[in-house]
Amino acid sequence: MRIGAHVDSDDPLTGARERGADAVQFFLADPQGWKAPTEHPHAAELREAAASGEFELYVHAPYVLNLASTNNRIRIPSRKLVAQHAEAAAAIGAKGLIVHGGHVTAADDIQVGFDNWRKAFEGAAKTGGYPLPILIENTAGGDHACARRFDNLARLWDAIGDFGPGLCLDTCHAFCGGEELGAAVDRLRGITGRVDLVHANGSRDGFDSGRDRHANLADSPDLAAEQVVEVIRAAGCTAVVETPNADGGQATDIAYLRERLAS
Ligand SMILES: [Zn+2]
Repeated sequence: MRIGAHVDSDDPLTGARERGADAVQFFLADPQGWKAPTEHPHAAELREAAASGEFELYVHAPYVLNLASTNNRIRIPSRKLVAQHAEAAAAIGAKGLIVHGGHVTAADDIQVGFDNWRKAFEGAAKTGGYPLPILIENTAGGDHACARRFDNLARLWDAIGDFGPGLCLDTCHAFCGGEELGAAVDRLRGITGRVDLVHANGSRDGFDSGRDRHANLADSPDLAAEQVVEVIRAAGCTAVVETPNADGGQATDIAYLRERLAS
């Protein structure tokens, strides 16, 4: 099983090597902005690392986009941004583009959010579909999120499952979102048939807190590191830490996961 890290976009492979990672995730544009990605300065090196199998690459889409939104001025640019990031991620050989599940507002029927997701996939299908897997990530907070509670995730998959989307399970988000980690992988497999990527994060906050503050695995008071190990073991897929990196925290998390998964 590969263990990776979310690193700075400037030079992802150097960042990955420094952390002892063999998978790497990064942004291709400002995560808080709406700008289309431009050619990565290390594009050739990234493509080669992906093609040779030295690294698995994952691209995280900007946080601002929301494919579920009932607001045209958010939903329409979100579709465009996902398409642009999917093209750019595929161009460097990434295995998937991670997109958060999104949300509607309290005034909306959440089914409209699921229908909006379907329209995004339908729109992409008209031009041959997305050029790489879209990995939908569960989120931690909010009462109107499409992928916080797994019962909503099931409704989302009812809407889009026939397009073959992928799933990214974030341990911090599931725990703080109020889903028990012990049963999470089995339940999600029952819903989606797959878990493609684990975001292996500790949490500063408690169960069902609705908060989203990632922590290093040794610094996660309520979400036990061993639970994260069990999730990765059950999922049997690549895991990426999105934890703080002060004092080499990510390298420590990766080393811990490797050691526990090997035993
Ligand atoms: Zn995540």
